[in-house]
Amino acid sequence: MQKRIAIFPGSFDPFTKGHEDIVLRGLQLFDEIIIAIGYNSNKSVRYFEINTMIEKIKETFKDYNNIHVDTYAELTATYAQKHNANYLLRGLRNTTDFEYENSISQVNRKLHADLESVFLITTPQLAWISSSIIREVHRYGGDVSQFLPYKL
Ligand code: ADP
Repeated sequence: MQKRIAIFPGSFDPFTKGHEDIVLRGLQLFDEIIIAIGYNSNKSVRYFEINTMIEKIKETFKDYNNIHVDTYAELTATYAQKHNANYLLRGLRNTTDFEYENSISQVNRKLHADLESVFLITTPQLAWISSSIIREVHRYGGDVSQFLPYKL
């Protein structure tokens, strides 16, 4: 049977316990997951260095040989196609996420008909964790370690 390969694309600025949860739950559905850090044109200036984030995500999943980390700067659908990924994994926290994900997934379907988007609803205890809040807390010297699956 064909391997089920999913890409989990995002800015991951930074990668949080909310993201970790989606990846680990995704492993129950997919043989392989590629965490793909995109250069989002709307958020072109990163707060956390991309190389640091790659290193931290790799460290988080060091015990898994079916979780990969990569970066990309092209259409997500194109990247998925190049890496034989037929599933696009995303997390949903609230209606705002839904509105955004709904329109993106329709476009992705047009661009790559075989790419099936799969959404996992957040774990309630992690629902409020967002990269933007973590950046804000960190910027002003707050301790963000409890929101991250690794030490900064
Ligand atoms: P993007 O900038 O592309 O939205 P993010 O890095 O912010 O990327 O998020 C990547 C994915 O992870 C998105 O699908 C987002 O909804 C999901 N996500 C972020 N935080 C959480 C969380 N706490 N619980 C579940 N899913 C989450």
